[in-house]
Amino acid sequence: MDNEPRFIVDTMLGTVARWLRILGYDTVYDRNYEDWQIIRRAELEKRIIVTRDRGLHNKAIKHGLKSIILWEDSMPDRLAHIALVTGIKLSIDFNKTRCPEDNALLVKTDKEKVKDKVPAGVYRVHNDFWECPRCGKVYWIGSHWKLIEKILMEARDRLEVLKSKTNI
Ligand SMILES: [Zn+2]
Repeated sequence: MDNEPRFIVDTMLGTVARWLRILGYDTVYDRNYEDWQIIRRAELEKRIIVTRDRGLHNKAIKHGLKSIILWEDSMPDRLAHIALVTGIKLSIDFNKTRCPEDNALLVKTDKEKVKDKVPAGVYRVHNDFWECPRCGKVYWIGSHWKLIEKILMEARDRLEVLKSKTNI
């Protein structure tokens, strides 16, 4: 696990932070951070910076840090770019998934324990639930799942294209 890339995501890219957490990567995101705080934390915790800010990117490189500048607007393109540079996996492993809100590792929980925390209709049709030990939010593979899978599938396709380009 220590070999897994860790990230710190710049303030404009909150949705990217959420995706990296869902994919299981330890990702710091704090919308109040100034550039110097991002650089300092990346340095201390050996995190890869993800940003759209050329200034921050250049500062990071000067400090000898890894930094990815994301110009892409679509999430599949962004994820493919990050995967090309860092080797992250573009598929979900439920043993590694983190809370998109706060980066805590989700814990598989017994169905009975979440009975009062999820809508009755959800409780009836689902058996697998995960809970965040930090914020208490409960997750299940719901209707949004198709969209998540679709975006990841697109991201994997884009990654193949990027790889074929870089092999030339
Ligand atoms: Zn949480």
